[in-house]
Parts: sequence; structure tokens; C-alpha cells
Amino acid sequence: MATTAFEPIISGAWGQPKSWTLDHYRKRGGYEALKKALEMQPAAIIDEVKKSNLRGRGGAGFPTGLKWSFVPKDNPKPKYLAVNADESEPGTFKDRYILELDPHMMLEGIAIAAYALGVHTCYIYIRGEFKFPTERTQAAIDEAYKAGIFGKTLMGKDFHLDCYVVRGAGAYICGEETALLESLEGKKGWPRLKPPFPAVVGLFGAPTVVNNVETLASVPHVFSRGSDWYAKLGTDKSGGTRLVCLSGTVNRPGVYEVPLDCTILDLIHNDKYGRGMPAGRKVKAVIPGGSSAPVLGADELDVALEFEALKVKQTMAGSGGVIVMDDSSCMVRCLWRVARFYAEESCGQCTPCREGTPWQTRLLRKIEEGRAEPSDLELLSNVASSIAPYPPIGLGNTICALGDAAALPTHSFLMRYRAEFEAHIHEKRCPFGDKPWGAFGDWS
Ligand code: SF4
Repeated sequence: MATTAFEPIISGAWGQPKSWTLDHYRKRGGYEALKKALEMQPAAIIDEVKKSNLRGRGGAGFPTGLKWSFVPKDNPKPKYLAVNADESEPGTFKDRYILELDPHMMLEGIAIAAYALGVHTCYIYIRGEFKFPTERTQAAIDEAYKAGIFGKTLMGKDFHLDCYVVRGAGAYICGEETALLESLEGKKGWPRLKPPFPAVVGLFGAPTVVNNVETLASVPHVFSRGSDWYAKLGTDKSGGTRLVCLSGTVNRPGVYEVPLDCTILDLIHNDKYGRGMPAGRKVKAVIPGGSSAPVLGADELDVALEFEALKVKQTMAGSGGVIVMDDSSCMVRCLWRVARFYAEESCGQCTPCREGTPWQTRLLRKIEEGRAEPSDLELLSNVASSIAPYPPIGLGNTICALGDAAALPTHSFLMRYRAEFEAHIHEKRCPFGDKPWGAFGDWS
């Protein structure tokens, strides 16, 4: 099994007293990676990150070193680093633990990234509801300033770096990188048309790198033990380890750090992780990467929780939110719940998303309540295709990926569980009755 000699690198200190303090972080070698990086040329730092095969942990899985290399060196404007700590994808709750339990690991990653990119100002954009993680992060920044890590010099090096925390106001869409930048500029969080990409025209019109919390917390490990070591921890195309958030009907939900070849089956059943299903229950379906990722059936779970492997199954590793549904779950009801979320969070800029997401929600409610006609299934499929066809992933007709996020679950649920949708229509009721409602519970 992939998990026998596994050493967690991101979550290793979680649970230890005062793991969030500078003192604790330094005692376990904290900021030594920054010292090493400061002896290197910025271009060499970016090359090391490229060699490590570190990929973004926020959702898209884009290679981090490559993203950094897109920042133009000759642009006279200031450059910015924006940390995406707006963790809001349903089923995802990992970054908050880094902010709460080991914020210095992320701050060290920020310092290395800033030096490599020539950035002197960093903004950490934190989800508005994350009051406690914000307090811990701010306390860690204050410690870093006091210790001379941030501020006029970067650990004694003639390079100034300022770091600010900004709290969002609770909009899911502000986790989309360009909406996040709009929000940081004090505007309504509306995604921007791309190109231009933020690396060229980002915050205040200047080159900006947007990186996720876990991505930046992974950076010090690339330098403390080398890019080869980090790359070898993972698979051919993806280095390191990853945090996954296991939720739904398993015996032990939680956040687990796993090797990238850990399968979904292993995550659910291994004693180190989910410890199996509750007595008498069987897995019916799993969403592998946050609620926007296409659902997998029970016979498709012997697959690694890794970007490429999940892509082959026409789904996504996404933000690491693994949601397990058992055999008492009504798939229509689950999809209705997911669809309602995206309808409520749509910013309304583009027609397919603004009109299509509530239309999906209305149709799903009709099916669940036994009021639908057979033609409504075709209509539902057409509405989803108007927002984003599938497969493959990424053909959305909208400005940002929220459109895809709303349409992909519909396509995949219909593809894999069509018979259940048809049963609702033929029986003119939900075959699962009123209760239990499965993993998503009652939301009425
Ligand atoms: Fe807004 Fe939806 Fe268009 Fe994204 S896809 S810009 S959320 S309307």
C-alpha cells in the first residue's frame, strides 16, 4: 500500500503545542530553506521549483515554477504576490489548518517566492469567515516582522518585503484569481476576461502571481531537502504530497496528508484515514476534488488522488475535497444541493451562468419532487451543455470556471446515475423517501 513509509511534510507538526509560533517553527528547521534560497539567483530559484514538479494545490493544478516564470522581468511596474486563502469550495477545508496550525510554513514560502519574483508587497486574501485563521496568520506575520524576516530587510538581505492580510466578505467567486484581484482593489469581485493573465496584468494593472496557501507552504520543502527529493515524493508529473479533505459518510472524516499515489479506496478504508464506511453502508459515489469535480461511481475508485490519474477518468483532483456518498444517498437530491450552491454564488456577468445555474436548480427540484416529465432530463442536459459541454473538461462558454463548476456535476451525475433520475420521473416521487437524505443532509 502506498502509505507504509510515508512522512507528512505539511501537516507533520499539527497537534503539537504551539506549532503556530515562530519559536516552534525555528526549532524544527523553519526558515533554513529561505536562508538557502537567498544565496541563490532568483532565476535559479524558479528553476528549482520547476524541477520539483510542484503543482498548484488550489484547484487547477498548474505547475508553480512555470507560473512564476511567466512574470515579465523587464516590466517597470511593481510586482505583486497575492495568496489565495479564500478557501470556499464545498468539501474543502485544508488551507485553514495551515493558517491556524503552521502559518510560518506558508510565510517562508511567501518569502522565497517574493525574492525569486522581485516582489516587495504580498497580500494574503483570506476568506471572510476565517476569523481565527486570520488572527493566527496576522500573529505570525507580526512575529516575522519582529524577527527581521519581513520588513526593511529579508532575513538580513537587502530586499524589503511587506506582507498584509486582507479579509474577504464571504463571496465564493472571490476565490477565482481575477475576482480576488478585483476584490483586493476594493471593487466588486467580478472575474476578468483572460488574457491578459495576472502574471502580466494583475493587481493594479501590474504583474501578479496568485498562489494557493498549500502551494506556498510546500515551497520551503523544495529548498530544505532539494527539488529532486521533493519531485521523487510524488509521481512523474507531480511532486510532493497533498492534503485531502475527506467528508461525507465515512467513519473518520478529516484532513489527511497523503502520497500522490494514494487511491480513493485507500483514503476511505485505510485505518490511518477514513476507517471505512459506517456499519451496513456501501460507497455509492465519490466527488474527488471539491463539489465542482465530476462524480465517480463506486467501481471507479481504484484511482490515485493525483491530477493526471483523475484527468484520465474525466474528473479533477481540484482542491482536494473528497466527498463520499453512501447507498442511502439520493443522487438527484445531492446534485440539487450542489446546483443550488453555484446558482447562489454566480456573479451574474455572463448569460449562460446567470440564467443556466438557477434553471438547473429549478429542474432538479422538479425532478426530486416528482413533478418532472421525461423531456426535462434532456432539457437539464441541454442547459448544462449551454454553460459548459463535457467531456472534455474546460470548454466552458463563460468568463470564469464557475460556469464549468456548475455544469460538470450535472453532466457527470446524469451520465452515471441516469436510471435514478428516470426512476424519480416514472414513480413521480423520490425513491429514497424523505429521510435519510444522504451525505448532504437537510437544507430546506
Ligand atoms: Fe460570473 Fe458565472 Fe460568468 Fe464566472 S461564469 S464570470 S461566476 S457569471
